[in-house]
Amino acid sequence: MRQLTFVRQGLVEWRDVADATIETGLDALVRPLVLGRCDLDVGFVRGVAPMREGEPIGHEMIGEVVDVGDLVRSMTPGQHVIVPSQISCGTCRNCRRGFTGRCQAVPFGAGYGMNRDGDFGCAAADLVRVPYADAMLVPLPTGADPVTMIGAADMALDAWRAVGPQLRERPGASVLVVGGLASVIGIYAAGIAVALGAGRVDYVDDDPRRLAEAAKYGANAIARPCELTEVYEIVVDADGQAETLVQALRATEPEGLFTSVSIHLRPLTGLPLIELYHKGITFRTGRANVRAQTDALLPLCTHGHFDPAMIDTRLYAFDDAPAAWLDDAVRTVAARD
Ligand SMILES: [Zn+2]
Ligand SMILES: [Zn+2]
Repeated sequence: MRQLTFVRQGLVEWRDVADATIETGLDALVRPLVLGRCDLDVGFVRGVAPMREGEPIGHEMIGEVVDVGDLVRSMTPGQHVIVPSQISCGTCRNCRRGFTGRCQAVPFGAGYGMNRDGDFGCAAADLVRVPYADAMLVPLPTGADPVTMIGAADMALDAWRAVGPQLRERPGASVLVVGGLASVIGIYAAGIAVALGAGRVDYVDDDPRRLAEAAKYGANAIARPCELTEVYEIVVDADGQAETLVQALRATEPEGLFTSVSIHLRPLTGLPLIELYHKGITFRTGRANVRAQTDALLPLCTHGHFDPAMIDTRLYAFDDAPAAWLDDAVRTVAARD
């Protein structure tokens, strides 16, 4: 079978590998129908995030179950499913507490196509083995189009965790999203905040295309560089640069809720901790808990308040996934006919 492979910076290609198979009774085999390129993939391809040469790449997928192990109870062949990007068992202490991004049954950070330990391959392949199928797989809502919903497989969850629980705690709060490298995730965070009834949603970025996409979702688009004169109760860093991180922290209200969805790769990133101490900011970072958050996100997508497909998306044929991964569009998707 083919598997999308990171050859080197600026090059990914299909490579033939052994077919994925059922290895334990808990597994399912899924045939991907739609692949989404994540912001993180863009980082890998451009050499911004580290990726070993020859690694499988791609982790956003909706597919069809083609086979299940004999211990799988909730899934049957033919079912269309959203496949979380992270591997989670559903039964360890962390999974039971909703921390499915930190499942203790697999090596830390195990997922599809993310240069992580665990040897689970990637989501961009002709067949994908899903361990813990009952715990991981999410049936695609009835009538939902997989191309429309592909954002709900990974990036929309990363966005939801930065504003969803926060707006539940503080209904109607003002929201600032500083957009950048985590491109789609930042735009989605702004769109989800609007959908959840935030009082004001400002989206700051230096990229005119991303600003236009955020505006489509109803956010106030503000071009950077700029002075941030307002302060906000809920702030999201989706840029990944130390300077804008500090600027965003300074635009956070006292007792504000701050989430960095970016991966700051340097061993140390300077923060104005004395200012944060005086303000009493809650600073949150870390991988999303993808599987656990899906249940909260899906109703928002299926009931029309948040449309993950509204973002400008360049659609490729499934076989052309390598080109989709290298495209400079904000968002690309590869889908079977
Ligand atoms: Zn991702
Ligand atoms: Zn677990």
